[in-house]
Amino acid sequence: MDKPSHLSVIVDLSPTQWAFCAQSTAPPGLPLQTFLSQLLAFLNAHIACKDENTLAVFGAFPGQSVMLYSSTGEAMTSTTEATDPNTYRPFKTLDSTVMSSIAERFNSYDVTEEEEPIGLVGCLTKALCYINRTISVVSASAQGTEGATRSIDPRILVLSVSPDQSSTYIPIMNSIFSAQKLKVTIDVCKVFGADNVFLQQAAHLTGGAYVQIERTDALLQYMMMSFLPPPAIRQLISVPTQDRVDFRAACFCHKRIVEIGFVCSVCLSIFCQPVPVCSTCRTKFPIKTLQRLNASRPLATTPSTPGTPRPLTQKNGAALPRPG
Ligand SMILES: [Zn+2]
Ligand SMILES: [Zn+2]
Repeated sequence: MDKPSHLSVIVDLSPTQWAFCAQSTAPPGLPLQTFLSQLLAFLNAHIACKDENTLAVFGAFPGQSVMLYSSTGEAMTSTTEATDPNTYRPFKTLDSTVMSSIAERFNSYDVTEEEEPIGLVGCLTKALCYINRTISVVSASAQGTEGATRSIDPRILVLSVSPDQSSTYIPIMNSIFSAQKLKVTIDVCKVFGADNVFLQQAAHLTGGAYVQIERTDALLQYMMMSFLPPPAIRQLISVPTQDRVDFRAACFCHKRIVEIGFVCSVCLSIFCQPVPVCSTCRTKFPIKTLQRLNASRPLATTPSTPGTPRPLTQKNGAALPRPG
């Protein structure tokens, strides 16, 4: 419990979604400025908790993913401001680095152009690479000492406002598996908008918390109570859990989120309709099976029979991507 902890925060910074969020009346919305000031307070709290705690902040902008800050100093801009005796220097560096990088990117947008999808997957993979490197550096420097391998407690917090992009299903699932392998917990805070199916699965599969904010004016309180304690302490306190997880997957053929999918029995690729040949592994399926599956399609609730392409329901539908 005394271990230092690493936190990688991924902030969804889609200008369109934040405009919707600021204008929303039911539930009352949250302007980006207010959100950022609450976020900075939370980040300051994390680095204040323990001297060895480390932090990395990633921004998911339209079409790009950017590292905004890292406590090891990689994304820091040279600050030439005069020192203020009334501020704690690490807080000041964090705040000004994060805010100036965000402002720089926002000013460069062309408002007349259509917004690209946000770079959430890029941020997730960058955060995982960063954590992987931090873990290997820590374990290399502390080799020989007992319990050196897990001396940091890494986790990722995603602050999301954008809806799901079904085209990112496979890379998100692959990131989840990498996170599981690295023992990284993924927490999700849904600040605005409908539930994210893929992020719900990410939190569920890595043992993290998924919190849908009901009152945006209490955002800081939600973050402090649910996401500040590292996973080791969470067993002792009561962090909100998901009572229902949406396990729907996206088909590999059209990248659509499907209620009922058909899974290749060889490579576990998911299709929205029975296919004669699997497009991933080229396995051919018997024509009788296809006929049987096609005949049973309107009756979505019939239980699956063992054999080639089997219907995928919400019960067994978790996480079946392929590598690459
Ligand atoms: Zn499809
Ligand atoms: Zn296949």
